[in-house]
Amino acid sequence: MTRKEIPFFNYPFLYEEDKEKYKEIFDDIGSRGAFVLQKDLFQFEEDLAKFINVKHAIGMADGTNSLMVALMAAGIGQGDEVIVPSHTFIASVGAIHFSGATPVLVEAGADHLIDPKSTEAAITSKTKAIMPVQLNGRTANMDPIVKLAKKHNLQIIEDSAQALGSSYKGKYAGTFGLAGSFSFYPAKSLGCFGDGGALVTNDDDFATKVRLMRDHGRNGTDVDIWGTNSRLDNMQAAFLIHKLKKFPQAIKKRRELASMYNEGLSGIEDLTLPPAPGSDENHFDTFQNYELESGRRDELEEHLTKNGIKTIRQWGGKAIHQFKKLNFDVKLPYTEQLMDRMLMIPMNTSLQDDDIAYIVDTIRGFYK
Ligand SMILES: *Cc1c(COP(=O)(O)O)cnc(C)c1O
Repeated sequence: MTRKEIPFFNYPFLYEEDKEKYKEIFDDIGSRGAFVLQKDLFQFEEDLAKFINVKHAIGMADGTNSLMVALMAAGIGQGDEVIVPSHTFIASVGAIHFSGATPVLVEAGADHLIDPKSTEAAITSKTKAIMPVQLNGRTANMDPIVKLAKKHNLQIIEDSAQALGSSYKGKYAGTFGLAGSFSFYPAKSLGCFGDGGALVTNDDDFATKVRLMRDHGRNGTDVDIWGTNSRLDNMQAAFLIHKLKKFPQAIKKRRELASMYNEGLSGIEDLTLPPAPGSDENHFDTFQNYELESGRRDELEEHLTKNGIKTIRQWGGKAIHQFKKLNFDVKLPYTEQLMDRMLMIPMNTSLQDDDIAYIVDTIRGFYK
């Protein structure tokens, strides 16, 4: 087997794959001087809303800002608690912190997503919202979460930064509660050429409020409410219009790559693989990442690195409560166990069939 060098993510590919088109878009926007709050942004918002069957999509500066604005627009702040899985990117929890509310960390389940039992146990009289985090292109089993939210009168604000186009029982990630937040960071499955994000909602009043808040609370020449600057650049929106058109193909490709991994790696006892595409009719997964579990994770990681394959421990291999300086005093044993087992192998649309074959062979070689 000839050695290959496979980066975890191929950033130049994002541009190279359709370079002439992006130059054209850049030239068009530049020539029109259409940089902020222009028709391309509104067009993208309409396209995005249609794509995930939601009433409103609002372009935001990035996925972190959009979560922060969502919480504030929902009236969540000091004295309130928001439940969030500890297995997430620091941005989810940082957004809660900066809203003034207290993040309450809970367990992830075998699907690496928010655990309903742990969520229920964390509900207090101060709880105002649940923030499920839809990771790796998979939407959590939302039935029990929606049920809990209804029973205890809580808002659901989804961090669906990693799950655009993913669905559970035919309903798209980001559309289960008051709001869903997306990120267009370059390495996200719909990545732009810098930072970008969006907030989606089916609530008209909430949408109006968020639209005001992302632009300083300004309403014409008046200021209606306190806001900030959290606008998605019109240039990024214009690139995203084009990228969204090709997004169904990108999802198809990711699912094909995942199927190849699942087939190629089947039967290795030490590995726990993500559910194969199509294996569960309730879930449509978009494979933002391919995250497996191994009891020999560190050795496997080293073996792959030695053979030119770059892998990642998501977020440096630490759940939020494991960042000592943040002073969370909780024990989440299942999450801790997951953090010692999980490893992400390359998953992006630049990968070719022979790359996957090489990665599969290298992993099989490790277990021989
Ligand atoms: C990427 C990401 C974010 C933050 O998005 P940015 O656009 O980088 O601010 C939030 N939550 C999760 C789970 C993410 O993966």
